[in-house]
Amino acid sequence: MNAPLPAEVLKQHLIDPEICIRCNTCEETCPIKAITHDSNNYVVDPEICNGCMACVPPCPTGAIDNWRLMVRAEAYGVQEQLGWEELPGEKALPETAAAAPAGDEPDTPQPAAPATSTAPGATVPPWSAAHPYVNLYTHKTPMTATVVGNYRVTGADTESDIHHIVLDFGELPFPVLEGQSIGILPPGVDAQGRAHHARQYSLASPRDGERAGYNNLSLTVKRVTEDHAGAAAHGVCSNYLCDLAKNDKVQVIGPFGHTFLMPNHPRANLIMICTGTGSAPMRAMTERYRRRIETGENGKLLLFFGARTERELPYFGPLMKLPRDFIDINLALSREAGQPKRYVQDLIRDRAGAVRELLADRNTCIYVCGLKGMEVGVLDALRDVTVQAGQDWSILHDALRREGRLHFETY
Ligand code: NAP
Repeated sequence: MNAPLPAEVLKQHLIDPEICIRCNTCEETCPIKAITHDSNNYVVDPEICNGCMACVPPCPTGAIDNWRLMVRAEAYGVQEQLGWEELPGEKALPETAAAAPAGDEPDTPQPAAPATSTAPGATVPPWSAAHPYVNLYTHKTPMTATVVGNYRVTGADTESDIHHIVLDFGELPFPVLEGQSIGILPPGVDAQGRAHHARQYSLASPRDGERAGYNNLSLTVKRVTEDHAGAAAHGVCSNYLCDLAKNDKVQVIGPFGHTFLMPNHPRANLIMICTGTGSAPMRAMTERYRRRIETGENGKLLLFFGARTERELPYFGPLMKLPRDFIDINLALSREAGQPKRYVQDLIRDRAGAVRELLADRNTCIYVCGLKGMEVGVLDALRDVTVQAGQDWSILHDALRREGRLHFETY
C-alpha cells in the first residue's frame, strides 16, 4: 500500500488584532498587496503573502510579527481573519505534515528585505537614537491617564479646531521618546457593538515631559468634522479628546514606534517637514533641542511647516517666538488671503541651498509628518534640489533609507 502523501506546511503570517492600531503602515508597505483590511481588522492573505518581511520592521506595535505553522490546505482565509477579535492558538500539525523549511519556527526573527519594500522612508532608526519602549500598555491592560490641560492652538474664528491636550500618568511609568505615538481608547462601541479601536496620536512633547521633569505628555488633535472628500463626518476619538475637561480620565495604550526617532548624538541636524497636526513630532523634537540649547551640542534645525493660514497653523505664536539662530522656520500657507498658494515642497525648492547643505552632512536626519498626499511632493522636491546640484537622487535616497535618516509618518 502507498503511504499517505505528507501534508504541505505553511508558515502563515498573521496580524494580532489585539495589538494592531490600524495605522495602515503594513498595507502600504507590502510590495505584493497581500495585506487588506475592513472596519474591524488588518489581515494577511495566505494566497498572496510570500513571507518577504518587508512589512515587519515598519509596524509600530509589532502586531504584524505573528506566525503559525499550518497545513496549507487549512490556512486561515481572509474572511475568517477579518472576523477575529484575537489570534487563535497554535495548532498541532498532523504526523503526516511535511517538515517545515529550515529556520521556519514561528518565533525565529527573519531578516528584513528592504530592497523589496516600497516604503519611501527608512525602516530603521538613526544610529544614535535612544532605545524606545513599545507596547507597555495594551488593549487588555490600558493605562489610565488624567487630563491636566486641553486648549485650542488655532485661531478661534477658523475652521481648524486643533487642541493641545496634556495627559498625566501620575505614579505609573510611561517612558516615551520624541517621534513615538500612543493609542487612545475612546469609550463606547462602534456600529457593530464592538469596543472602538484605539486611535493613534504622535507625541507633541519631548521625552522628559510636556512640563520638564513631570510624568506627562501632550498630543495635537484636530477635531474631525468631515472626511477627506469634505462630506460631514464625526471623528469618534478626535471629538472625544477635544471635548475632554481637566481631571477627566483617559484610557491609553502604547507607547508605539521604534524608527521615527531622533538622533541622539551631538551636532545632529534635523530637517522637519510637516503639515497641520503632523507638526506634533516636530514640536517634540524642537522642544528637546530647545531644552538643551545651553549644552552647545545642538545641530541645525530646518523646519518646513504647511497650513492653510497663519491662524490655522497650530502653535503659531510660540513657534514664531523661537530664536532665528536656533531654528530656521519656513511657513507654507495655502489659503492666506492675497498670497499665492504655497506647499511645503515649494519652500523646499525655494530653500534648495540650505536643504542641500544639510543633505550633504551625514549628521542630518529628515522627518516628514502630516497628510499622505505630501509624500510624493516632498520626495520630488528633495530629488529636484539634489539633481540641480548634479547629484544622483536615487543613490542619496537609498543611503538615507539605509542609514535611518529619512522618516515618514503620514496618514
Ligand atoms: P490640513 O489642515 O488639511 O492641511 C495642512 C496643509 O497641507 C494645508 O495648507 C493644505 O493645503 C496642505 N496640503 C494639502 N495637500 C497637500 C499636499 N499634497 N502636499 C503638501 N501640502 C498639502 O492638515 P490636517 O487636517 O491638520 O492634517 C494633518 C495630517 O497629519 C492628518 O492626515 C493626520 O492624520 C496626520 N498626522 C497627525 C498626527 C497627530 O498626532 N495628530 C500625527 C501624524 C500624522 P490645502 O489648502 O490644499 O488644503
